[in-house]
Parts: sequence; structure tokens; C-alpha cells
Amino acid sequence: MEYYKQQYLKWIPYLQQYWGLHESFAIYVAAAQAYIQSRGGVAVPIVSGLRSARYQRALQERWDAGHRRGLVSRPASRSWHMQGLAVDVMTNHPNFPAFRWLMLHWGNRWGGNFRSYDPVHFDRPTGELLSIDQIIAAGQDKVYGNLG
Ligand SMILES: [Zn+2]
Repeated sequence: MEYYKQQYLKWIPYLQQYWGLHESFAIYVAAAQAYIQSRGGVAVPIVSGLRSARYQRALQERWDAGHRRGLVSRPASRSWHMQGLAVDVMTNHPNFPAFRWLMLHWGNRWGGNFRSYDPVHFDRPTGELLSIDQIIAAGQDKVYGNLG
């Protein structure tokens, strides 16, 4: 229990500061990772967290201009990633099933259940899903560049 708590308390600032996750979502990711570690496992690697609205718009413009290297589809105008309420993780990791089970158990969504199948993705819809323009107009876009 003490080890779990120590790990959990390390994950929270890492998820907020390095990956830009909102505290209301970071608590679930931290709890899942700390639980896995407390059972002797290795945390599931994270590949993406917060995405800047301006960066997302720049990617859309690049896609529209026909420069699509590294992109599989046109970046969405609305994404929980832009509000720090989504995370992408490595699906081929041995502890991915445990991570997914815990996240779903606590009421988060898994992209593997979406119609547009996105198995790396977990999110927690909270409030209104804002567009790129709404986020920028509200002064809510805190970072520029790809924070993960
Ligand atoms: Zn995602």
C-alpha cells in the first residue's frame, strides 16, 4: 500500500507537467500505472497526451496542402487530447490488458470500443468537447508544439 501510494504520487506531477493531462483524468492514469507497479509490473508506456490546438490546426493545414507524411487521416477539429482528457499508450505491452481493465473499470473510455477503432486511446469526456477555434478563442491553448 505504501509503495502504491509513493508511485501514485510520482505519477501525478509527471502526467500533468510532462504529458499535459488534466488532473481530473491524470488521477485514473496514475492509479492504473501505480497499481501495475505495486504488483511488480512495468508501467505501460505513454505515447501521447495533451495536444496543442494550434499544433492540431497546423497539422490539418499540412494535410490539406497534401503534405501527409506521418499522418494516417486528417487531424480532427475536436479531440479530448486538446483538453488534456485523453492519453494514448502502447498496446503491444504485456501490461496493456491490465491497464485497459482498470481504466474501463473506473469509467474511462477505450478507443478500441469506438466505431473508428483507436486501440491506443483512452479518454474521459468531461464538459463540452471544444473545437480548435473555441480553444484558441478562449485562451485555453497553453502550449504550442507536440507535447507527446
Ligand atoms: Zn488518442
